[in-house]
Amino acid sequence: MTDEKQDLDIATLLVHEGERRGKLAARPVSTPIYASSTFTYGTMAEIDQVFAGEKPGYVYTRHGNPTVTALEDALRSVEGGAVSCAYSSGMAAIHAALFACELTPGATVLASQDLYGATTNLLLTVFGSFGIKTVTADFSDLDEVLAKASETKPRVLIAETISNPLLKICDIAACAEIARTAGARLIIDNTFASPYLCRPLEHGADIVVHSATKYLGGHGDAIGGVVISRDEVDRAALVGVMKLVGGVLSVWEAHEILRGLKTLALRMDRHCENAGALAARMQNHSRVGRVYFPGLAADDRKEVTRRILREAHLGGLVSIEFKENTRAAAFRFMDALQLESRTDWFGSQSASRARMTSLRILNRLWLLQNPER
Ligand code: PLP
Repeated sequence: MTDEKQDLDIATLLVHEGERRGKLAARPVSTPIYASSTFTYGTMAEIDQVFAGEKPGYVYTRHGNPTVTALEDALRSVEGGAVSCAYSSGMAAIHAALFACELTPGATVLASQDLYGATTNLLLTVFGSFGIKTVTADFSDLDEVLAKASETKPRVLIAETISNPLLKICDIAACAEIARTAGARLIIDNTFASPYLCRPLEHGADIVVHSATKYLGGHGDAIGGVVISRDEVDRAALVGVMKLVGGVLSVWEAHEILRGLKTLALRMDRHCENAGALAARMQNHSRVGRVYFPGLAADDRKEVTRRILREAHLGGLVSIEFKENTRAAAFRFMDALQLESRTDWFGSQSASRARMTSLRILNRLWLLQNPER
């Protein structure tokens, strides 16, 4: 203990000893978790400057945090955008992306009819309550998208690269062209493709969103979302909604997701390989009525898939419909799986459709082991 601290009470020492060390000369090999709600500087004047945005830095984690910035920077770079902002969930990210598009009362959103259910609900309920109208279209039918865009003059088009749950591949370039003609912006939810399979900004999208909860995090232990925009102009709205609504990503989740990114390429290679093998096996099963997977023989959109997704990668998800077209059949199947974890993803969306990730399923799939059950 230094001399000047000898007179301090033990209660005071317990609070302050060991903290606020200066910069280490050694550089950590992994991004540190800055678990601090607030940041301090040498003088009040400096704090004031940072708070006012006159000087770069951090003052309060709801406004920004170095661990979260590391994740934002990584995703901005891999998606090829100008600005990136992380949020507490994929839904918070989708809300922020829509907010950034300045949807005023009376504005219309043209949404893919095959969007993740909560996104459609967000549009209908939250944005609907502010007088924003949502019109849906089958985004695999470009004539329909064009017709609805011409008719409704939307401010935003929103679709998923690989749709949830029917796994249709969006022709992002064609939709971007329709959006441009209509004077609208195109938001693409890239959750199911990940930037490893597709970079929507390269195809002309304006804004990309991710539920980082899925492939980016990759281990089922973190919830988060990210928005990446091609245009610096969106920074104010994206950061503003983060600061004011407060749906910020926790530093712990940011760290988990950053760690997930490091193995994303390896995992996606394997997911896609597994899913392809699973889809092929399912197709020939006597009890399976229909398999949804891009690139199968019946898929008439192979050209789009080839253009949009990384070569020889068709995504890591498979959806199936049983010939026995009941919810009970889907539940029986899911309950019988030995390694795959059960979730209610599919329950509310379809009576009989089971969707699964290929992650852990191939080696012990009940259906393959018990082909006649
Ligand atoms: N987008 C897609 C395609 C999803 O599947 C999900 C969740 O399943 C979300 C967005 C919402 O993400 P989160 O659960 O992280 O809020």
